[in-house]
Amino acid sequence: MSIRPTASRVASTATPRTAAAAPAITAPPAGLGKGDSGPKVKQLQDGLVKLGYMTKAQAATGPGTFGSLTEAAVKKFQAAQKLPTTGFYGDQTAAALKKALAKPTTPTTPTQPGKFTKPAVISAPSPNSDSRNGADIDTIVLHHTGTNNGKGDLAWMRDPASKVSANYMLDTDGKIYQLVGDDKRAWHAGKAELHGVPTDVNARSIGIEIVNDGSGKTAFTDAQYKALTQLVGYLKQEYKVPANNIVGHKDVAVPKGRKDDPAANFDWARLRKGIGT
Ligand SMILES: [Zn+2]
Repeated sequence: MSIRPTASRVASTATPRTAAAAPAITAPPAGLGKGDSGPKVKQLQDGLVKLGYMTKAQAATGPGTFGSLTEAAVKKFQAAQKLPTTGFYGDQTAAALKKALAKPTTPTTPTQPGKFTKPAVISAPSPNSDSRNGADIDTIVLHHTGTNNGKGDLAWMRDPASKVSANYMLDTDGKIYQLVGDDKRAWHAGKAELHGVPTDVNARSIGIEIVNDGSGKTAFTDAQYKALTQLVGYLKQEYKVPANNIVGHKDVAVPKGRKDDPAANFDWARLRKGIGT
């Protein structure tokens, strides 16, 4: 079996997530109890909802009213924090809530299943590929082509004489070309290691060439970032690629320093934000 079963390839109509970040939920100052109401109570309820001690519906009984449901939630929280279960939101409870809310939320799957659909690709088969020899895909390697000429890059990777290829190439206009099927081993990484361990990176990775001269001065285009986000988001989700296995060629090439792609001006943070990691 060279790739993961197709059963997980569920068609989805989900649209990519918009990056609207919710405002951070923080703990209100101490000194709230049954019978209180107002924005501070609402803030407390938001915190308790976020941490799972009460539901949104329970908190929605009024505009920030500290009733018996809120009291019960405070007690549950206090019990979990090994505090006296008074139901009163005092200093100790406020300090514990502040700490609990500051913690990163339990690691959730960075990309929800079905969030990314496979972007449209233009088929441009390359003969420069072979079998994955049973390896599962668990890595994505990004490259720059080293020119700003997508047509030339594409022709080169489709030329049997070049003996190079990638699974995908992203042109400057954001068009995505598929040269080698995901199920095949494309020839892009050369001698390589992953996190310091020598391995057949080509066999276990999807290689993506981004058309860019690699000077560090030529900006990767908006269209490329958009297409790349959709493509990498999809591939990560489809093959359950861990976030730290989304790497650049320069990170895996052996010996160290053999490769410098993608160029230093490639915005990793923008990609990572786009795919939710
Ligand atoms: Zn490369």
